[in-house]
Formats: sequence, C-alpha cells, structure tokens
Amino acid sequence: MTARRSRSRRGRRRGAARSNGRPAAAEAARSTAAEAVSPAVAETGPPTVAGAARRLGIAQLHAEQEQMIAESLTARDALMVVPTGFGKSACYQIPSMLLPSPVVLISPLLALLRDQHEKLVQRDIPCVRLDGTVRGRNRRLAVERIAEGGSLLVMTTPETLASPMMTELLAKTGVSLVAVDEAHCISEWGYDFRPAYSRIGAQLRLLGSPPLLALTATATERVREAIITSLRMDDPAIVAESPHRSNLAFEVLRCEGDTRARVLVRLVKRLRRPGIIYCATRREVDMLYALLRRFRIPAHRYHGGMTATERNAEQARYMRRGHRTVMVATNAFGLGIDKPDIRYILHYQSPASLEQYVQEAGRGGRDGKKANCILLYDPEDRTIHQALLNRSRVRPEQLFKLGTALAAWSDEQRSPSLEALALSAELGPRIASALLNKVEEAGFVTCEDSVIRVNDPTRSIEDDTRGLAGQFERLRTQDSRRLDAIEEYAGADECRASFLSRYFGEGACEPCGLCDICRGHPTRPVGFFAPLTPPKAPKRKTRPRRRGGTRSRTRRRKPRRAPRASERD
Ligand SMILES: [Zn+2]
Repeated sequence: MTARRSRSRRGRRRGAARSNGRPAAAEAARSTAAEAVSPAVAETGPPTVAGAARRLGIAQLHAEQEQMIAESLTARDALMVVPTGFGKSACYQIPSMLLPSPVVLISPLLALLRDQHEKLVQRDIPCVRLDGTVRGRNRRLAVERIAEGGSLLVMTTPETLASPMMTELLAKTGVSLVAVDEAHCISEWGYDFRPAYSRIGAQLRLLGSPPLLALTATATERVREAIITSLRMDDPAIVAESPHRSNLAFEVLRCEGDTRARVLVRLVKRLRRPGIIYCATRREVDMLYALLRRFRIPAHRYHGGMTATERNAEQARYMRRGHRTVMVATNAFGLGIDKPDIRYILHYQSPASLEQYVQEAGRGGRDGKKANCILLYDPEDRTIHQALLNRSRVRPEQLFKLGTALAAWSDEQRSPSLEALALSAELGPRIASALLNKVEEAGFVTCEDSVIRVNDPTRSIEDDTRGLAGQFERLRTQDSRRLDAIEEYAGADECRASFLSRYFGEGACEPCGLCDICRGHPTRPVGFFAPLTPPKAPKRKTRPRRRGGTRSRTRRRKPRRAPRASERD
C-alpha cells in the first residue's frame, strides 16, 4: 500500500487569502485548541494519543492515522481519502478524548451513527448522539450532556446540525474540531450528492469556523476540490490512499444471460466463505438466494423490501463471529458492517459506479488476508442502472416547477400546505413531497404542522431552486459518465488495481500481481458455463413401522448427520 501525502496547491492559495479574512473568534478557537492540547500530547502527562487509542482497542495506529490526528490536534484542516476499513473513525474519536471542548461528527448515515455510538458507550468513551430519531427523555439528556461541554464526541446529522437549537448549544460550549464523514456527499460530481451537505460550510461559520477534518472513502480529483471549496478548508493537509488494498484480488468475468447464474453457483461452491454477493435489484437477490439454497449453500439475504426485523435477523446471523455463510444483498447491505474475515465480494451485476464498486469490494479481507473481488459483467447491466437511476434521481424540470410555485405563494405572503403546493406546481403529491424534501434539506424552506414556509423571503426561492435543479442536472449527466467508467474498467487490459488507482486520481500504481490481468487473463474451462443440476433432495426417511421396535432402533434410523447450524439458518 502506498501512502501519498500532498498539499492542494489551490487549497493553499485559497487558504492564504482566507487567513486574513478569518474571523478573530475562529483564530482564537484554533489557537486555544492547539494550546490546550499540548499537555495532553506531551510524553509525561496523560492522556496521550497512544492511551486514547488503547481505550478504543487499537494497539498501533497507522502512520496516516497518526498524521491526521496530529493535524487535528494542532488545529489544521485535513482531508482524508482512504478506503473503507482503514480506520477513519479513530482520527476523530481520539481527538475527541484529548481536546478540551466537543468534537462534532457529521454523518448522513443514521445506522452508522447508532452503531458507532453503541460501541463507544461500551468502551466508556464520552459521546452523545443527537439526530432526528433521538426523542423524549433521551433527547433531553443528550442536550444536557452537550451543554456541559468538555472532552466529548457529539455525533449528529447535517440536518440536526442546522437546527437553531444545536447551533446555540455548540456556540456556547465551543467546538474543538468538526469531522465531516462521507464528505463526497457535498459534490454533485460525486455519486451521492445530498443538498443538506451543501449547508455545512455556512453552518460551521456560525460556529466560528472550527478546524475541520473531512473524510471519505472515495473521491476523484474533482470531488476533492469540491469538498475543499464548499467547506472553505484552509490549506488542508491531505492524506489519500489508493482505493484498493494490496490483499484484494480483482477479477472481471464476462458472462451473459443464463450463464451468469451458473458461473455464480460454481464460484460460490469453490470460494472460501464468508462472502457477499451484491445484486442490482431485490428480485435478483430473492432469485439467487433461492438458487443457493437449492444447492445447499448456507445463505442469507438482505434488501429494502424485507421488514426491518427480517433484515436485522439475517444480518445478525451473518455477522456472527466464525459463521461462514454467504450474504446475498442489494447495496442496502454493508454500511458500517464490521466483519474482518469476508473472503470474497462477488458482484452479480455491475454496480452503478466505480465509486460504489470499490466501496463494496473494500468490505472484503479487512483482516489483511487475501480476498477475491469478482465482477460478473454483462454489458446489458447498463440498461438496468439507467432505468433505476431514472426512477430515483430528482428531475430538474420538476424541481424547477416546484420552485416557481413556491415563489408564487411566497410573493402573496402565503404559506401553502403540501397538497396546495402540489396542485399549483401541477405535480403529483408523492413527487411534490419528495422534491420538497430536497428543498427543505437545502435549507430553503421549513415544513412544520403541514405548512410550508420559505426561510428567507428576501432571497428569490425561484433562483435558489433553479440552482439546486442545476446541481441535480449535473448529477444526472455524471451518472452516465460513471456507467461509462464501469464499462472501461470491465474491458481494460491494464492491471485492475492500477486502473482504479488512476480513476481516483492517485496515478497508476505498480501491477498488483493478484488481479486477472496480472495473472495473464486466465480463461475458465468451458464446463464452468455449462448448465447445472442441483443436488437431489434427500430422500425422506419413512418412519419405521412400529413392530414392537425399541427406542434404540428408532434412533438408528435418524439421518447420519444433523444439519449444521449454518444450514438451519
Ligand atoms: Zn493487477
């Protein structure tokens, strides 16, 4: 693995211009943070970085983690682009134990926040989770704890951060550091743009522009630039790792039509478990799950069409330590899963982007041992993704219609209900509601008690939504570029690891020696694609007729081998 540290030249220029204009309060916050921490990192007085790491169960930090922690402790902005499983969370968790006032973590992923919060509580590390799902007494307790201030990790979402209550609370306690997780969501050039993220920069200025740590698993050069600009990062230190790890063996197997399921079953029978099979649709998950069960391969499944209880039960069984089964899932599965010994990640269909592909492939082999990342590639997959993206992405022209309608209501100084707004925008209520969510996320309106209010009547809501529509337009054009990149990856004659490295702006790397290209493109025998015969169902044992038989006789008639626990699942 090659670590590369570089400074963004543009970032430095912008930084120089900004330092002069930086509010005095921000400068003060930064220098206080830097001074206050010096005794903590000194060799003599506890707590130390190493001590804090031990509390998290980390015996030895990577050099890159140490560097990021050091930058955060000296109040320098930093951007970290490293693959999943690298240990990004330690880079803000450790400072949260050492810095004098709260460290704020912003993430859009509620499940991840919940999971991380539980783990930190178990380790008795001061932390508070406050997002839209924390209500009643828990909310009151969380607010009280934040108000106390001191060394603390405050975990929240961009929406909650934007609430006046949170701004007031954090402005009082002061903030030592803000960690922005999934920072690629800031950019419409990325694959997962979220309007709520575009507000973070302005929100942080209300908090006196505390030092920043932006984190993401994947970001092309363009997305990195967008993160630095949007958050107004000041000459950030950048740590970027190649998006693949040296123990991942990439492979692309071209198979079309029926052959795909056959190849999959043959691979799954040969490969060491546990593994994950990713599919593009729920229907495919159900189909493959049934197929694997027919071949008596212990499997679980996970997709958005199952109830939360079903999903949680399947995930819990799959995650059990030492449990060697196969998970068949859509991309809904895997965020924040922490199973180090996954031996393969098989993509039954190509994902919608290489960003998504490397994130998912990166869930394999976190224990550092070899893991296979195999993509079963059919050029037809593109059509499926185009249809899915068409359905899920915001349509800019509809968003613009909504903006025009909102402007008309606002001009009359009236606050419409959703139904009234949908009617005037000539949109269906469901579409209007989905679009309104985006407009609310972007901070242009507030929906309360079924009434929609424009937040800032002095601004043109029409222009604001037009701007937002433009961002979604760019996101859509980028979708097809991302699908092109998948095609290029599948058809490339270059080492797969090197291809991915170049795509993510890290430049070509040494041939990995593990991927199919480095191994000379080995072809599979023809039999690999031949039809399959599922094993015959075991004959039903007929109950011995009771002819005065004894208990011991009945016992002998039992099947020789009890089904393994994994098969019962
Ligand atoms: Zn290679």
